[in-house]
Formats: sequence, C-alpha cells, structure tokens
Amino acid sequence: MEIVSTLTELQKRIHTWKKQGQKIGFVPTMGFLHEGHLSLVRESKRRSDVTVVSIFVNPKQFGPAEDYQVYPRDPERDRALLEREGVELVFYPPVEVMYPEGYKTYVEVEDLQDKLCGKSRPGHFRGVCTVVLKLFNLVQPDEAYFGWKDAQQVIILQKMVEDLNLPVKIVPLPLVRDHDGLALSSRNTYLSPEERRAALVLKKSLDLAEKLMVEGEREAGRIREKMIELISAEPLARIDYVEIVDLKTLERLETIGDQVLIALAVFIGRTRLIDNLRIVSGGIEK
Ligand code: AMP
Repeated sequence: MEIVSTLTELQKRIHTWKKQGQKIGFVPTMGFLHEGHLSLVRESKRRSDVTVVSIFVNPKQFGPAEDYQVYPRDPERDRALLEREGVELVFYPPVEVMYPEGYKTYVEVEDLQDKLCGKSRPGHFRGVCTVVLKLFNLVQPDEAYFGWKDAQQVIILQKMVEDLNLPVKIVPLPLVRDHDGLALSSRNTYLSPEERRAALVLKKSLDLAEKLMVEGEREAGRIREKMIELISAEPLARIDYVEIVDLKTLERLETIGDQVLIALAVFIGRTRLIDNLRIVSGGIEK
C-alpha cells in the first residue's frame, strides 16, 4: 500500500492506472476509521481493480464553532486498517495541498444544501461538495462509495454528479451500527459512558417510527411527534431536528409514501449525532 501526500505523486499513480484501463474505486473519508468506513472499502475492493482511500479532515465543511481542531485523528491506526484491507493507495494530503493560499472556488447544490443538517450547519455541504469534486478530479474514479449514514450527503452528491455531468458513479452503501444499534461514527469517541448509553435514543426513536409504520400509521406528523416525545424524555439529549422528508427533494412530507427519509440530529451532551432510516417502495431500508 502506497501513501501519498502530494498532487504530483497522486496524479502519476492515477495516470498509470488509467493507461492500463484499471477500474478505480474511491472511498473519501476524514479518517479515524471504523467498520462503517471499512464496509465501503470492502465494497470498493470487491467491485474495482484498484482502491484509493483519501483521509482528509476538510476544514471547509466545519463551522467556526465546530470541532475541526479536535476532530479525532489516528493516521497510524488508519494506515494499519487500510493495509489489512488490501487498499492500493491512500491519499493523505495536508490542508495547504488541497487549499493553497488564495483558494477561491466553491461548489453549491442549491436548496438541498439548506435543508436538514444544512440548516444548523450553514456552509457544511458547500465544503463537502467542493472537496469531493476536487478529489473526484484528482482521483478520476469510476465509482465512489458513500455511506447512507450521511443520507443528505449522498443525495446532494448524486445531484452534483448529475448536474455537472461528472463521469463517476456514486454507490451508496448501508449504514453500519454498533452491536447495540448506535450508528458508528468517528464522533462517538467524544461520548462519556453515560452519554454513550443516552445516545441509543436516536436508534430507539427510529425503531419507534418503524413500529408505528408497520402498525399502519401513515401520517408523518404523528410519527414525528412520537419520536420527539421519546427523545425529549432522555435528559442528556437535545434535538437539533427530526424530519420526515422526500428522499429526493428533502421536502417535508405529510404522508408516508414510497420514497421517504426519516432523519434526525440530536445533541448528546456537546456531541451532535445523526441517524436515519429510509423507506423505499414501501420497504424499510437500514
Ligand atoms: P467521514 O469520515 O465521517 O467523512 O465518512 C466517510 C464515509 O464513510 C462517508 O461516506 C460516510 O457516510 C461513511 N460512513 C461513516 N459512518 C458510517 C456508518 N456508520 N455506516 C456506513 N457508512 C459510514
């Protein structure tokens, strides 16, 4: 496994693979890897000739009061994990390689970027789209793998690829959970043992939504109310949002239909966690 930090080294490798006609799979990450990330890597290994993983904590997607400085980092452990998966290339650039002094260009996906997480994290998806487009241009992948854990990110990036005619296929993959149901996230490391227990309320509220739907509830407002009631009973939890929206437009729904995203963001202590479930063609996808 090769680890490169400069554009020239990366582009040289990619150029060789392209000339050989290799199918390139790409997994962009911010590092501090867990089984969620590794599930993307394994799918890339399965479907591609060569797999490139990027590790870059992207400052442009963090707000001024957010956790950019303290975001967990462990490059040595990440390297060992990726080596074990048989990854061919890791791109691990310093910030000044991605954003040299005088950097000016940004990508925005209108409307979609302002909903759900975009409301409480203004500029977040502008930062995500900008770095992902730059990485796509550098790595030139045939396929790029993203987790449904970040459902809004998947939807926005699919729109960006469609609108800008990018020659890459976005492959979204299932959300990976811990044994007790908590969605795996690098940010779970911030939680104290007591907060870790309280954090289960996110998944519990989605389980409740699922139960209500299985029992025949179709009114989104009622499902949402019950979820909010459940989460509010947890003293360590503070709701950022609980929304039931159309899976493509992210517009609020009145009735549960065929393409639904139930998404939530909840502060547990000072840590903001997200989770979701999707209903596609009447079936619940996890
Ligand atoms: P991050 O390092 O948080 O930027 O995540 C990198 C990629 O891993 C994104 O496509 C995430 O959606 C995905 N990912 C993070 N956590 C999970 C999870 N629990 N299950 C599946 N994919 C995940």
